[in-house]
Amino acid sequence: MRGAWTRHDWLSPGRWRRRLVYWGGAVLVGLAAVGFAWLCDAAFDLFERLRAHHRGWPLLVTPLTFVALAWVTQGRLAATRGSGIPQVKAALSSTDGAWRAGLLSVRMALAKMGLTVLAMGGGASVGREGPTVHVGASLLFAVGRRFGFNDPVVSRHLVLAGAAAGIAAAFNTPLAGVVFAIEEMAGGFEERMSGVLLTAVIVAGVTAIGLLGDYAYFGHVDALLPLGEAWLAVLVTGLLCGLAGGLFARLILLQPVQWLRRLRFARARSGLLLAAGCGLLVAALTVLGGHDLHGTGYAQARAILQQEAGQDSGALYGLLKFAANVLSYWSGVPGGIFSPSLAVGAGLGQGLAPWIPSAPVATVVLLGMAGYLAGVTQAPLTAAVIALELTANHSMVIPIMATCLVARGASTLVCRKAVYGAFADRLLADHRLTVTRPWTVMEICGGQTHAILSAGLDRLLPEGLTLVHGPGCPVCVTPTGVIDQAIALAGRAEVVLCSFGDMLRVPGSGGDLLSARAAGGDVRAVYSPLDALALARREPQRQVVFLAVGFETTAPAAAAAVSQAAALGLDNFSLLTAQVRVPPAIAALLDAPDCAIDGFLAAGHVCTVMGLAEYEPLVARYRVPMVATGFEPADILHGLLRCVRQLEAGEARLENAYARMTQASGNPAARRLLETVFEPVDQLWRGLGRLPSGGLRLRPQYAAWDAATRFGLPEPADDLDGACQAGSVLRGRLRPDQCPEFAVRCTPQRPLGAPMVSAEGACAAYYRYRQHTA
Ligand code: SF4
Repeated sequence: MRGAWTRHDWLSPGRWRRRLVYWGGAVLVGLAAVGFAWLCDAAFDLFERLRAHHRGWPLLVTPLTFVALAWVTQGRLAATRGSGIPQVKAALSSTDGAWRAGLLSVRMALAKMGLTVLAMGGGASVGREGPTVHVGASLLFAVGRRFGFNDPVVSRHLVLAGAAAGIAAAFNTPLAGVVFAIEEMAGGFEERMSGVLLTAVIVAGVTAIGLLGDYAYFGHVDALLPLGEAWLAVLVTGLLCGLAGGLFARLILLQPVQWLRRLRFARARSGLLLAAGCGLLVAALTVLGGHDLHGTGYAQARAILQQEAGQDSGALYGLLKFAANVLSYWSGVPGGIFSPSLAVGAGLGQGLAPWIPSAPVATVVLLGMAGYLAGVTQAPLTAAVIALELTANHSMVIPIMATCLVARGASTLVCRKAVYGAFADRLLADHRLTVTRPWTVMEICGGQTHAILSAGLDRLLPEGLTLVHGPGCPVCVTPTGVIDQAIALAGRAEVVLCSFGDMLRVPGSGGDLLSARAAGGDVRAVYSPLDALALARREPQRQVVFLAVGFETTAPAAAAAVSQAAALGLDNFSLLTAQVRVPPAIAALLDAPDCAIDGFLAAGHVCTVMGLAEYEPLVARYRVPMVATGFEPADILHGLLRCVRQLEAGEARLENAYARMTQASGNPAARRLLETVFEPVDQLWRGLGRLPSGGLRLRPQYAAWDAATRFGLPEPADDLDGACQAGSVLRGRLRPDQCPEFAVRCTPQRPLGAPMVSAEGACAAYYRYRQHTA
């Protein structure tokens, strides 16, 4: 008997578990919506009190708030920007579970609420309904995951139900919640989820009503539209408010009109400055325009709709509020556009009313609100149902629906794509790394090359995107002539030749330092030039020479060793210097007539020492994107994403995708030390030739610690082994596994060239991770 009961579909424990999740989640959404509304109102009330104290306060508070919010939302909280509805739409369209979970986490929901409250408290012209959708979807999705509902179909239903419950609880508009989920979020009716959608909306709505009481958002509005001439109002408001809504959508999308594109670049480059400007303009428009443009615009819209005394300049209010909404969205502060759009529509409707005397003013205002909202969202059903439910007016069903349909059509003349869908597509495109043309990007650093190959990132890239490996292995670029000099020094009885372990195996023109040691030379591997300095202090009768190789990352330690030797008056320590600088190598690669590199991932550790300023002239001169990038696979993908995004947009900027380590000014102490001890010099690079300012030499006051001077060494040469194609590998023109000697005559055990020796060499990386597929 019991089995029969539990087999009954309606009574199965699994079904009940799922129901309880939906109901419990919906109660949470209702509570969150009410609490969020209360906090937003309290924050805006505080702002209004400040404004009442002195009307000039917003000129300071609003820009500061915008800057603070733009700053906070630059990194991991970027998904809290704007309305929140595009984020939910993008999450629904993505198959990447981890990404979806990031967009719809409880942490994101809390941040969204907190930052929107801050935006309200700072006087932004935003609403809370879009954010409530984001919060509702996040909460229901998170509750579902918490109870093990990870199935993609159930997850999708949870998100849709959460979004619908969010709208229903925020506006007390249950029907609008359902229609919104079907029309805007799901893009169509899904029979299987109609039950859960309704249940979630009812539970969230009842929760909100239980706390706030039943109400119509704008109060009951007795608007009527008599048949006949008054229907002109439908056409006029639908057309004009629809066009205005489309214009708003186009402006906030920054669609490709030249000056809007420039604004988009300005936002990417100087987001904080733009946010400050937007905040200042919102406040200034309020002060100069004589209308309160801060907040949702609820009070103004209600006053216009209810035809309260003193609302005689609705059109001007509508236009100013339109501008304030655009500026707030451009700044990137969290906040929605539903309520502020209704306020604009109310203002525009009142402005149109005198031109349509056959229709009551309140009717034209209501049609203006519905038409403008339909124009902005291009979701006519949702806009119509919201307008009806917000005003508890069911005698206007047909005129409002007709207005919304006309408005949607008019809006598409100005803005072809619906605003939420377009923003969601952008989020998805950013996430997917869309490549429309072939691009070649070079990672500079050998550490990045190894990370790419070990994680197989190069095999995960979209078709058309090619990664090539650059000259960023310090051992690889040390010319053979310097190795020969070191070997010659190691052959002297009084010399102890020290260097990093890798260097001992790099072939010179006639052997390596290990061979020199086997022949009786005193060659020692050390971890740092300071170890060599300590050795010199311990053995004052020996001449300790440190073979200093590498980029700007190793040079500060070499500089510190020389500086200490000078301070101690140590005359048995010297440097055989082959320190190199990255920017001249990039310039040399780009100067090559057949250069095919479209963008660069700059080495994050070099930028951590030297900062970013050295790369600005390269970006400006060669018009190539450069992105300072870290070394974890996720860092590299992030840097690559930002680089390709620039390439796809036709931009060339210097970006920092390694901000957790790299400051724009670098490490000032290390840079000071470098500049004190070293100066730039033309430098020979293995396979690349002599690069102007491509290296570092000791400044004249430290010449006494220069091994080449002390031992009278001749100028080094760069004679590559004829079989080794290191030059082509280091320029990114030859993939290591395309070298005929790769894994044949050249192996890490018997390397023919430096790229096979070094732990950072590209050939060694291919041998380690790809030898079986070569
Ligand atoms: S595989 Fe060996 S020979 Fe070929 S380029 Fe690399 S190091 Fe030189």
